[in-house]
Amino acid sequence: MTGDLKECVEKNTGQIMVNEFGQATNMHPLTKVNQPSSPKVQNNIFSIGDVCLSHANEAKTIPSMYQYCYQVIWNVYTAATGGDPAHMQKIPAMMHVVQMLPCGDSKGLMSFNKMLKRDDTIPKQKDQMRDGYMAEHHGDKKAAAANAKNGKDFAGFMGIANGCCYCLPMHISKSKEYRELEKKGVIAKFDAAYR
Ligand SMILES: Cc1cc2nc3c(=O)[nH]c(=O)nc-3n(C[C@H](O)[C@H](O)[C@H](O)COP(=O)(O)OP(=O)(O)OC[C@H]3O[C@@H](n4cnc5c(N)ncnc54)[C@H](O)[C@@H]3O)c2cc1C
Repeated sequence: MTGDLKECVEKNTGQIMVNEFGQATNMHPLTKVNQPSSPKVQNNIFSIGDVCLSHANEAKTIPSMYQYCYQVIWNVYTAATGGDPAHMQKIPAMMHVVQMLPCGDSKGLMSFNKMLKRDDTIPKQKDQMRDGYMAEHHGDKKAAAANAKNGKDFAGFMGIANGCCYCLPMHISKSKEYRELEKKGVIAKFDAAYR
């Protein structure tokens, strides 16, 4: 990102700052301080994944990308086909944090928002995921079908964790406690440090 686009790059992390539609912008998504006097949005330049910094400040993982890539892909399609920008979709402000951590060959931890559990099947599950996706990339249709089913099951879990059962430890409201932090002034501290 050079020239005019350089100002869309976060000065500390080198990430591409995006607005709620995934479009590159010179407005910092996480702080109100030191914002440009003339905010600019690059309507035809989008960013997702590790390199992008969004207002969700999501964990940089595959499950995070899974939760907002469809919106950004839709927005790219809308921009590329001259569609109505009013139909663009927003990146969710909060995302689930899902991690599977193998500890050696036969032990593991699984965390889903605020739920943490020991699960010794994790090493095997991660190996299966790796092998399944590699097989799909090599054209294995059976593996592709199994991966599609896993994706659907995962979406189902997220649906439950997005639902009305707020008491669940993996409920989305517990994913980052962003609002709690806001109340405690952590964001104000971040702003002060960012000056
Ligand atoms: C060691 C490690 C383990 C991880 N384990 C997990 C895990 O278990 N589960 C999980 O969900 N996530 C895991 N992650 C994170 C996950 O890999 C990333 O979130 C994900 O790969 C990001 O995808 P991406 O497409 O945004 O970026 P990348 O996968 O980094 O893809 C970017 C691509 O752009 C290419 N590129 C860079 N610069 C240029 C250029 N100038 N021109 C052209 N091409 C360029 C790069 O070569 C690369 O191929 C892990 C990351 C690491 C480093």
